[in-house]
Amino acid sequence: MNIVTLKSSKEKSLLRRHPWVYANAIERVAGKPASGATVLVQAHDGRFLARAAWSGHSQIRARVWSFDEAEPIDHAFFKRRIQRALLHRQAMVHNTGAVRLIFGEADGLPGLVVDHYTGADAPQRGQLVCQFMAAGVEAWKEAIVAALIAVTGCPNVYERSDVSIRAKEGLEQITGVLAGEAPPETLVVSENGVRYHVDVLHGHKTGFYVDQRDNRALVQQMAAGRDVLNCFCYTGGFSLAALAGGAQRVVSIDSSGEALALAQRNVTVNGFDAARATWLDADAFKTLRRLHDDGERFDLIVLDPPKFAPSREHVDRAARAYKDINLTGFKLLRPGGLLFTYSCSGAIDAELFQKIVAGAAADARVDARILRRLGAGMDHPLLSAFPEGEYLKGLLLQVG
Ligand code: SAH
Repeated sequence: MNIVTLKSSKEKSLLRRHPWVYANAIERVAGKPASGATVLVQAHDGRFLARAAWSGHSQIRARVWSFDEAEPIDHAFFKRRIQRALLHRQAMVHNTGAVRLIFGEADGLPGLVVDHYTGADAPQRGQLVCQFMAAGVEAWKEAIVAALIAVTGCPNVYERSDVSIRAKEGLEQITGVLAGEAPPETLVVSENGVRYHVDVLHGHKTGFYVDQRDNRALVQQMAAGRDVLNCFCYTGGFSLAALAGGAQRVVSIDSSGEALALAQRNVTVNGFDAARATWLDADAFKTLRRLHDDGERFDLIVLDPPKFAPSREHVDRAARAYKDINLTGFKLLRPGGLLFTYSCSGAIDAELFQKIVAGAAADARVDARILRRLGAGMDHPLLSAFPEGEYLKGLLLQVG
């Protein structure tokens, strides 16, 4: 058995059930744990703290599987965790063919993300898409895949572990079929009555921004009769929601022609009037300014950009970028207009994001009222002991 002993006074965070052990908290390691091997973590005085997955390459040297001394880490453990996650999702998430089944630490499976897509036209042909982002889940991949299939009954499992974070764990990027059939080129899922093409093979993350479901629903509810602008639209998630909600006109911007092509297919598959939708293949920063200079105005704007701050060093530059788009966004709104604005940068917390947006409103010389704080859906729970798990935050504001 590999035993990791923490430095004295470094056990506090584990006692508070935070699931990470940093390299600098470790006093000594008995044994030579392989990458992903299960280690027993104990306090300086030898008290049991947790069982965890060893990751010799990462500054996060171990990730906790269980705080229960009586719980062994074996096939049954993974099955129980996945069963629990599925039960919670079934109780909380409805009206969608795109569900995050496993959200890493929050589901007691650090480093694992699994999205479950159910085809709108072929519900029997489900698709699980996994991302293995830490040494522990990588080492247990076979057991995890077998448990996923057994618990969900979905035979098709695809891996999208083409994420740079794997380098920190000493792992190569990898994609491919883990079980069953290869995913179709795109599969169509239905969410709140709207159909979306999902490109599991090449799309962002697992193919779809599953996390924005509730926010799409909110846009759908509030779009009737409005002129809508959706920046960083990707495959048109918010644009389609706005069209479904009866928007008068939806202008969408993205710099990826491929994403826009899929967005346009999404208009067709829903049978919406293509004349209500305009797609601009362009840089959002420049285009926002141009639209403003041209005197265009909107009633509802969505700003959901990529992660501007991939890590802490990027926070200042990212803050300027968020401020820039929000400033122009505010200026483009008619009185009474609504701004849905997001940041998915983990390094920018909700408080800082709100300050940036407030600064943008001040510079735009508008009164902006926060109507609601926004975040990811309930299938992206946030472990109370683990604030690092909060990445997506947003605000719904009204001006004038
Ligand atoms: N809002 C989307 C997800 C956004 S992902 C949704 O709900 O599905 C970020 C998107 O921003 C990507 O599609 C990427 O192509 C686009 N992007 C990145 N930089 C950009 C820029 N400078 N101008 C326009 N689009 C950009």
